[in-house]
Amino acid sequence: TIEVPMLEIKSLNAWYGSSHILQGVDLSVSQGELVCLIGRNGAGKTTTVKSIAGLIPKVTGSVKFNGKEVLGTPAHARYSMGLAYVPEERRIVPGLTVRENIRLGLLASPLRKKESEVIDEIAETFPRLKERLDQNAITMSGGEQQMLAIARAAASQPKMILLDEPSEGIMPVLVDEMFEYFTSLKKAGVTILLIEQNVSLALKIADRAYILDQGEVVYSGTAAEMLDDVAIQERYCAV
Ligand code: ATP
Repeated sequence: TIEVPMLEIKSLNAWYGSSHILQGVDLSVSQGELVCLIGRNGAGKTTTVKSIAGLIPKVTGSVKFNGKEVLGTPAHARYSMGLAYVPEERRIVPGLTVRENIRLGLLASPLRKKESEVIDEIAETFPRLKERLDQNAITMSGGEQQMLAIARAAASQPKMILLDEPSEGIMPVLVDEMFEYFTSLKKAGVTILLIEQNVSLALKIADRAYILDQGEVVYSGTAAEMLDDVAIQERYCAV
């Protein structure tokens, strides 16, 4: 198989004010791969995906998406290029129904003209959302809201999705459903970078993984290698 990099990060540095958070991160994700980003709280995982999405103002280095340098490109333009981002804090719009929230996700996408087809497809994939299409989205459970955020991002048919701790605070049965969905997205050819605290679950669906510690990549390998390496998990993955 030929490995085509969908995302290629080199020497990525990021700052909040004068705090130097990311210190030369190198990371790559091939087309169609599911890669997991692991590390303790405060390791720099969220900062890494926000930098990729274009949401950190002070960054240096290189972020190539689908062969193009995007470091100076605004976040909305990266989204239009097919790079979707589901933040930890979901960003469901209160007062809007599930259906309206999905529409919002399609605004910047060529698929907005096929809105009803897209909504039908989401309803088929997520029975919980189907039952709630006309419900105020903010009245749903945390897990259902997270499903909506993911479905909304996937509805734009992105080339790649960045997922920041999608399973956090969600009941296990929904987490299993969510992870099955990630596997089906991967099968459909979507490239995925997944931040996940539930390391053993994530490694079961991932191809490869990176561990971040204090703003640096300290380990990378195949998911199978990392699953076997209990020592490395204990060292870097405890919260
Ligand atoms: P978590 O699992 O807790 O989300 P993380 O690995 O995603 O952790 P980041 O959120 O990227 O870590 O944070 C990395 C470091 O940057 C932490 O020390 C954090 O306190 C700091 N940080 C994050 N956001 C800001 C901000 N807006 N201003 C200043 N410092 C920040």
